[in-house]
Amino acid sequence: MNLHQFAETHEVTNQPPSLDGTNLYRIDLPLQEWSRRFGAGWAESRIDAYGALAGGPLMEAGFLANQNKPVFVSHDRYGHRIDLVEFHPAYHELMRTAVEHGLTSSPWTDPQSGAHVARAAMSYLHSQAEAGSGCPLTMTFASVPAMRLQPDLARQWLPKILATEYDPSNVGVAHKAGVTIGMAMTEKQGGTDVRANTTKAYPVGASGPGQAYELVGHKWFCSAPMCDAFLTLAQTDKGLTCFLLPRHRPDDTRNQFYIQRLKNKLGNCSNASSEVEFRGALAWMVGEEGRGVPTIIEMVAMTRFDCMVGSSALMRQALTQASHHCAHRTVGGKLLSEQPLMQNVLADLALESEAALALSLRMGKALDHLDDSHEAKFARLVTAVGKYWICKRAPG
Ligand SMILES: Cc1cc2nc3c(=O)[nH]c(=O)nc-3n(C[C@H](O)[C@H](O)[C@H](O)COP(=O)(O)OP(=O)(O)OC[C@H]3O[C@@H](n4cnc5c(N)ncnc54)[C@H](O)[C@@H]3O)c2cc1C
Repeated sequence: MNLHQFAETHEVTNQPPSLDGTNLYRIDLPLQEWSRRFGAGWAESRIDAYGALAGGPLMEAGFLANQNKPVFVSHDRYGHRIDLVEFHPAYHELMRTAVEHGLTSSPWTDPQSGAHVARAAMSYLHSQAEAGSGCPLTMTFASVPAMRLQPDLARQWLPKILATEYDPSNVGVAHKAGVTIGMAMTEKQGGTDVRANTTKAYPVGASGPGQAYELVGHKWFCSAPMCDAFLTLAQTDKGLTCFLLPRHRPDDTRNQFYIQRLKNKLGNCSNASSEVEFRGALAWMVGEEGRGVPTIIEMVAMTRFDCMVGSSALMRQALTQASHHCAHRTVGGKLLSEQPLMQNVLADLALESEAALALSLRMGKALDHLDDSHEAKFARLVTAVGKYWICKRAPG
């Protein structure tokens, strides 16, 4: 008797083939059309290459990075406070690939018609593979317009913010070729209402833009706390002001930036969000004193743009999975994709997904042409409205 025949309990049928290794750009006609229409045709081979990465190794890394959550290590085994967050290597692979392909820098280092659209298209592909790493990627990218408001600090920091090198090592900025930037505004008593911030800034010597201060207070939300520096808000005598706070002081000692704990979040598992305390943390004033909100809004506006792109990406990946499944799954003797009511469902998803993408890339075009006053007004309005609408529709 052949026992082997009993070990095979059943044949797997009526399941779709795997999508692993699919180039996400090549299967996405709307992305191809809208990125060309809004001026990024010249970048097609780059976007195409990122589509292959996103559907292949990055997708695989995305599963690993979300199965293995970051871990907060407050002290080393000898009792020294170290405030480290350890990530799975897959998370670093996602970060490294994105930084090396210009997702944090390309429209700033190589500005041209279609530059923001091309970067948004690649970011859209990246977010389909993994969304959590989008947090530090977008904050680093978005910090640039705010940093430019303080030219002395910009001269020092921008070459490293804009470098296409990812270095997660826990050392001072002087030892790194590339750095990442985070943002810490939210406090317990005020999220939307940042004017309620109670963190205080005390000048170390001279006061004013570009000068050194020590910050005392807490932040209820500081995502990606392993970034090399953070744009943050604190009160001076003249009101709420923006500061750049590095994780290490210029003499390479740890800054007085203490992580209290990591937060549990719904779907965003790969990335860390934390609560932090500043206990006399060294920071430099960015922009005009007392004008912290208009300064940091330069960064917030760009993160809003990326929220549009990231949420459009979630919608697209959901559509890809749903339509692929329905194209291969038979119910009642007919493919789901041939059932009129299912076609209705898929068509609704496709329409809304494409609308979200088109608005996001249209926004990219506006950012590419801010010298045109119409485009500047469009960008001012649509970063807020587009983020509101697309982020609200994405979960549905
Ligand atoms: C995953 C995640 C990561 C985050 N990372 C960071 C980070 O890195 N850095 C950082 O600084 N913050 C971060 N945040 C915090 C985030 O920016 C705040 O949650 C946000 O600003 C909202 O603040 P809040 O939660 O205190 O809500 P509240 O300010 O208490 O608002 C509550 C509700 O009221 C609504 N509301 C507010 N004003 C009005 C109004 N005038 N009219 C009608 N409705 C109104 C709001 O839309 C909201 O729905 C993060 C949040 C999340 C979820």
